[in-house]
Amino acid sequence: MKTFDVIIIGAGVVGCSIALSLARAGIRSLNVDALPAPGYGSTSYSSAIIRPFYSHITACAIAHESRARWQHWSEFLGTADPLGLARYDETGGVILVAEGTESDYAANIDALQAVGVEYHWLSEQDLQQKYPSIQLQSFAPPRRIEDDNFGQSNGQMIRKGIWLDACGHVNDPQLATHNLYHAAERAGVEFRFNTRVTEITQSNTSTAGVVLHTGEKISAPIVINAAGPHSKHINLMAGITNIETRAERHEVAYLKSPGSNMNQQGFLVDLDTGIYQRGDGADVLIGSADPTCDPADVADPDNYSTSLTGQWTQQVYRAALRFPDLAIENTARGTVGLYDVSKDWIPIYDRTDLPGYFVAIGTSGNQFKNAPVIGDIMTRIITAEDPDSVWLTLPNVQREVDLSFYSRLREPQNTKNVMA
Ligand SMILES: Cc1cc2nc3c(=O)[nH]c(=O)nc-3n(C[C@H](O)[C@H](O)[C@H](O)COP(=O)(O)OP(=O)(O)OC[C@H]3O[C@@H](n4cnc5c(N)ncnc54)[C@H](O)[C@@H]3O)c2cc1C
Repeated sequence: MKTFDVIIIGAGVVGCSIALSLARAGIRSLNVDALPAPGYGSTSYSSAIIRPFYSHITACAIAHESRARWQHWSEFLGTADPLGLARYDETGGVILVAEGTESDYAANIDALQAVGVEYHWLSEQDLQQKYPSIQLQSFAPPRRIEDDNFGQSNGQMIRKGIWLDACGHVNDPQLATHNLYHAAERAGVEFRFNTRVTEITQSNTSTAGVVLHTGEKISAPIVINAAGPHSKHINLMAGITNIETRAERHEVAYLKSPGSNMNQQGFLVDLDTGIYQRGDGADVLIGSADPTCDPADVADPDNYSTSLTGQWTQQVYRAALRFPDLAIENTARGTVGLYDVSKDWIPIYDRTDLPGYFVAIGTSGNQFKNAPVIGDIMTRIITAEDPDSVWLTLPNVQREVDLSFYSRLREPQNTKNVMA
């Protein structure tokens, strides 16, 4: 039987980052993925927005640290991938703030200040100058288009925006994952694709390895669940029932950018209508900010519809409230992907009640950005001498963060959507 120090289930952006970090720490791992190549799972559909705008200091600090790695991607990888390198475009971005809602962002501003991320306020005039076609009425709360009050202004206005220079997006999330995979393989990690894990084995109530769909058994004292939207299934294989995650279906719409060059204006978050958007070539990509009026589209990760549906329609109509010059096309264009959602939309990077079994799951539609750091988070957790006190040093933001923030045992935070 083949033996490794660690088996990682999943070669998405999370699993590949863990593989690279473990290899750099001298730990021999095998990475197994059911799909034919790295990053072919939910990572492929990522909007890949990089932003430090989070309501908790730790989340903000890790995102800002990770951004530095995206900025210096080639140096971070230390290898040249024959497929080329993914590119981080630092476009900047804005969060629209309706009058009377400033306090909703107080925790985010505190986090930016604590971590030392620069931001500034945009006035109504600044917003109008930047986005000539923007409508600044407030339509909150976000509504569904079948609601009679959809599109009715509530009499308030968007008076401000929070502008951040230190954000943007990665042009190709699948290629970024390939880059991590390539660097990890060079560093000695073994990968097996088209290979499904069907069982997690135990010996004396500790993790002993995995069984593959071929029946082959592989042994390792440590197994990491990095299976994205399949995280719940893998947890059940390990007998773990006290960690809650669910797969949620999310559509991202593409519309042609109007003449106002909206596609070149960075990313924009509009919680007033319930969407986020960013440029993508000649298009504007429009995703959902998960307003409470939309029911969660909980899905079976092995059997879900990849067709664009009413979600697409809700999102494009909401975006067109803010930007009436967005032309809604007759034929829906976009992508359908799955989030792996935790109870509070904050990921779970932790050990579990089964010794030797670890999880890097619940990434809740917002952890692509952190992928370059997630590997180090998991390496620290796995190698910690005292598992109850695990800290990670973030050299770029010059902070140490307490990784219990990501504990499976934490009190759920009050974060309720992808913005976390
Ligand atoms: C529509 C959408 C938009 C997003 N936008 C953003 C964004 O703008 N910014 C941001 O930071 N994040 C964003 N995210 C989130 C981010 O993309 C994810 O958090 C991240 O890609 C998850 O990576 P992963 O490796 O955990 O999962 P995956 O990429 O899904 O990888 C998991 C892998 O596990 C494998 N697997 C599962 N079960 C088994 C098994 N039994 N045996 C072997 N292999 C198995 C799968 O084949 C898969 O390849 C978005 C996500 C989606 C879907």
